[in-house]
Amino acid sequence: MSTVIHYDIVVIGSGPSGQKAAIQGAKAGRHVAMIEREPGVGGGCVYRGTIPSKTLRESALQTSRMKRSSGTPDMPAPSGLMVSALMRHLDEVVASHGDYMMNQLTRNGITLFHGRARFLSDHLIELLTVDGMTQTVTADTIVIATGSRPRAPVNIPIDHEHILDSDSILSMIYLPRSLTVLGGGIIASEYASIFAALGVQVTLIDRAPRPLQFFDEELVRVFTQCFELEGGRYYGGQTIQDVRWDGISQVVTTLQDGQVFASDKMLVALGRQPNLEDLNFSATGLTLTEKGALAVNEHCQTVVPHIYGVGDLIGPPGLASSAMEQGRRAVCHALGLSEGPSGGLIPVGIYTIPEMSSIGMDEAAARTRYRGIIAGRARFDEIARGQISGISHGLLKMIADPTGEHLLGVQIVGEGATELIHMGQMALQHAASIDSFVENIFNFPTLAESYRVAALDIVGQRQKRLSAAA
Ligand SMILES: Cc1cc2nc3c(=O)[nH]c(=O)nc-3n(C[C@H](O)[C@H](O)[C@H](O)COP(=O)(O)OP(=O)(O)OC[C@H]3O[C@@H](n4cnc5c(N)ncnc54)[C@H](O)[C@@H]3O)c2cc1C
Repeated sequence: MSTVIHYDIVVIGSGPSGQKAAIQGAKAGRHVAMIEREPGVGGGCVYRGTIPSKTLRESALQTSRMKRSSGTPDMPAPSGLMVSALMRHLDEVVASHGDYMMNQLTRNGITLFHGRARFLSDHLIELLTVDGMTQTVTADTIVIATGSRPRAPVNIPIDHEHILDSDSILSMIYLPRSLTVLGGGIIASEYASIFAALGVQVTLIDRAPRPLQFFDEELVRVFTQCFELEGGRYYGGQTIQDVRWDGISQVVTTLQDGQVFASDKMLVALGRQPNLEDLNFSATGLTLTEKGALAVNEHCQTVVPHIYGVGDLIGPPGLASSAMEQGRRAVCHALGLSEGPSGGLIPVGIYTIPEMSSIGMDEAAARTRYRGIIAGRARFDEIARGQISGISHGLLKMIADPTGEHLLGVQIVGEGATELIHMGQMALQHAASIDSFVENIFNFPTLAESYRVAALDIVGQRQKRLSAAA
């Protein structure tokens, strides 16, 4: 029988949230263990999510640039193109990330256990290794960071060969000629635009009238236009009646209005569900939210005060970026360390082609909150850097309060959006005025100059308002 080992902190799951929780605990001088059921550390983020999808996106961007520069935008994907060839950097990225993570764990004295964890009581965890051995550990603080997996709707026969989900999509050997994507959220929209840019004939189908319903309408319009320019089609307001593999070569999708689509492959991206089942919560007193996520407070603390939940497991926003911060904050809270100011300002980055990003209030939210907000716009094709780089689609929107002096939010679509947003984030965090964007010198020619142009637009509208009121 194995002995029970005691730790100050045990973290279950080695994804972004678990990593940051473990590192924070170790940096605070605590005895920390991490339990991971997979052979590699890094979580869904490294093996099935963020990193593989962004690696494929990089190839899609290169393909798209090549098509544009050769003047053949309608060129189909070369037949027989192997997905692995498009993702040739992935193994290197994953291997170097794995090495980096292992070094970081070792350097910080964190013990890594490989096994599937389950609770025996609220302080006692059993882990089952692949060779059938068990080990039990106890901890003063437990952080659950077991992430999520794709939701599998009961009426769609996902076989991971013809009908795939976001975990299996990149296991395709060859690039299909046509792909139907079910869903209108971030993962569906990202993969739809990536495959369209690779020359695949993509049909995106969702219940909502437009993709990315939660996001600024004007930006999504720019995205949809670009998607359609790449040959993609969006079918909104649709309900799926039936999906089946015809047994020969096609996935056949029938909509409730009678339309039928056939494609080589299908990607089902209809949301994600938390990885909870293995954990044996009945031994702990932990509770779930109405949506089936682990219920936590603003410190990521569950109803059992020494157990925390972080990352995808606790629900939206379901981003690696926020998961990391939740891990850090949870452990700071558990150890009575300062968490720093609330991380309420979370940037959203959507790696569609073109990419989109948002921080703070968007136009619709600001209009609901205030009367008479001012939106300033800068189009990338009117900025010197945009013209030099041949960027035909791109827009930066700054949202100001009704006085036109205070920044409320920034939304960007176009190349570099997910990087450019951080300037808006810093400005919001430090309550920078709209005028400060006009009074500062920006490098020229840059896309960042869009901030100055949008701010000038706001100042112009503000002056018109003042003159009209005088
Ligand atoms: C296709 C795709 C693209 C994405 N793109 C982005 C992006 O561009 N930017 C972004 O910020 N986010 C992105 N995300 C989201 C991001 O990957 C997740 O938000 C993030 O991985 C969540 O981290 P986590 O630590 O909660 O869980 P995960 O990364 O899922 O890690 C959970 C870990 O827990 C382990 N585990 C589960 N159960 C047990 C158990 N019982 N015992 C032991 N170990 C267990 C799992 O093996 C896994 O390693 C993307 C996701 C997908 C699917």
